[in-house]
Amino acid sequence: MNVTELARILKISPNELREYLPQMGFDIGKKAIKVDNQTAHKIINQWPSFQRQLEAEKSKAESGNENEQSEEEIIKKEVKIPSFITVRNFSTLAEIPVNKILAELMKNGIFTSLNEKIDFETAAIIGADLNLEIKLDEKDKKDEQNNNDANSLKNILKATATDKLKERPPVIVVMGHVDHGKTKLLDAIRQTNVVDGEAGGITQHIGAYQVNRNDKLITFIDTPGHEAFTAMRKRGARIADIAILIVAADDGVKPQTVEAYRIIEETKIPFVVAINKVDKPDANIEKTKQELSTQLKITSEDWGGKIVCAPISAKTGDGISELLDMLLLTADMEEEKIKANPDDIATGTIIESHVNKGEGPVATVLVQNGTLRIGDSLSFTGMSYGKVRALKDYRGENVSEATPSTPVKIIGLKIAPEVGDILTVGQGEKMKARKVKSALTDAIIKPIEEKNDSIEKINLIIKSDVLGSGEAIEESLAKIDCPEVKINVVSKGLGNITEGDINNAESNNARIIGFNVKASPQAEEIARDKNIQIKLYSIIYELLNEIKAEIETMIKPEVRRVDIGKMKVLAIFKTEKNSQIVGGKITEGQIENNTSVEVIKDGQIAGQGTISKLQAGKQDVESVESGQECGIQFEGQPIIKEGDILQIHKEEKIKK
Ligand code: GDP
Repeated sequence: MNVTELARILKISPNELREYLPQMGFDIGKKAIKVDNQTAHKIINQWPSFQRQLEAEKSKAESGNENEQSEEEIIKKEVKIPSFITVRNFSTLAEIPVNKILAELMKNGIFTSLNEKIDFETAAIIGADLNLEIKLDEKDKKDEQNNNDANSLKNILKATATDKLKERPPVIVVMGHVDHGKTKLLDAIRQTNVVDGEAGGITQHIGAYQVNRNDKLITFIDTPGHEAFTAMRKRGARIADIAILIVAADDGVKPQTVEAYRIIEETKIPFVVAINKVDKPDANIEKTKQELSTQLKITSEDWGGKIVCAPISAKTGDGISELLDMLLLTADMEEEKIKANPDDIATGTIIESHVNKGEGPVATVLVQNGTLRIGDSLSFTGMSYGKVRALKDYRGENVSEATPSTPVKIIGLKIAPEVGDILTVGQGEKMKARKVKSALTDAIIKPIEEKNDSIEKINLIIKSDVLGSGEAIEESLAKIDCPEVKINVVSKGLGNITEGDINNAESNNARIIGFNVKASPQAEEIARDKNIQIKLYSIIYELLNEIKAEIETMIKPEVRRVDIGKMKVLAIFKTEKNSQIVGGKITEGQIENNTSVEVIKDGQIAGQGTISKLQAGKQDVESVESGQECGIQFEGQPIIKEGDILQIHKEEKIKK
């Protein structure tokens, strides 16, 4: 999207937009003329709350506060609270919309409602993210000393209205190296355990599904690979309660196994290891355990450790029932944490989102607290996203409500949220938001046409060994600030370069970049046939340097006119149809052969031409300095007369 277009949507000037973006935490560069749609989406999302902040600062400045306040003081608002405070009262004291407080709490893994109490420590933690300085009300200090043990983030659910919290199904995510069987395992679980005994029943892909095991529901996030998970983690949303780390017994621990485990460790969620593909002749369970132990310090229970390592075959179904039992057991041990209040207003995280042509935005929300119902209005960061017209479960069936841990597809949204957005039930800012939203929805449905033909594109498909390096490459590429050449990452994936990647590259007119991966021989052959470029790297800056060098060759150099000198015409020696030989004196600078000439008469440009020959005395020369006399052969309309001034200039090509 063009910056000007974005500015128009936000109803401000492009210059104002460029000024505000760094304050909003977006660094698009001072000269950027385009913003990618995802960033534009984020900017539009954040705009209402940023605008409120701006307005608040403005009215504060105007309210006759003569002592100049520092920026820091304006932003860091002091809020005095008692040692326990309801979310509603906290919102009133902090003058921050209650939805925003609830969303901030959720980011920290706390699901609470308006009337429940949070303690001082919790308020201080989320206050810091909301630019508040939370202080304890003096009269409450004594109470606080007595409450020191309520180190709330962990105990909050216990401390607040425990009676309202009810057990909810555990939410499971499957992570592991590419081709180790994530998809196959999710399919196997789905097919054998669909709720209500609908074995083999058709399920809709909505990003998650539920199975019933021993009369207990389990929710599985159905987006294999940890990309969605990382996206959610980035936004602070915690969605899964338990992870399955899948490792193929014929392949062992691989880079993405390590990366997946790092994410699990960071998120601090419990996990079980599924050692998959045990049906294969070359499966080696003991060797896999050995690698888990030496490379990841994961020691299986039967080796004296604490981690469940369940051998399974996603292909034959062996071990899957046991794996589900292990998940339920783990959930039991986490019982205290896997709870929510179904009677509250709903809050949940978006786990899948796209825009359907005709249908408009469609998103799947994983309800995390409260119950979502048809007719509820949804908002995110204070902005209205629309009303729930219908809810569909993973079987594609219409449902009227969704309780905690239930994934549901929402129909009726006016704008497509992003994966990881935390939606809460609430009106949001309708009027203001609606205009922005309809514009954005248009932008998403009809990708902005490249209006500027002079912009060239480099389309890339990035394949990397681990997600982290793919992201690092994409981020570094995004920092290359060149208005004339746009780098467009068509897709990003993990693992070796396959035939599918070549086809993808062909249909997107893209080239393929591999980082720490190889191309399969078939892929190489097809790439050769189709003339698709594949480049392999193992050092990011080499990749960046090559791209930058290529961009330089693509950018047309800037042609600049350089005035080099002036000559006063003293004599005309010869005049022909398209040329003249004239003599004169250099009055300023110098003149050079093969340069351009403007003929100046009475201060006006009367004509132009070029110098094809330059002579000093009888000698052909390349340049003549100021003060000297010379003769030139002028190519152009023969209009030069004695007394005219010739302005000599040349063109310099400047590499940008
Ligand atoms: P993902 O990339 O982790 O999602 O891996 P997939 O689920 O796509 O599996 C990769 C390949 O391994 C596919 O060809 C699967 O059919 C195969 N596969 C997955 N699980 C098993 C298994 O337990 N046994 C065997 N023999 N093959 C499996």
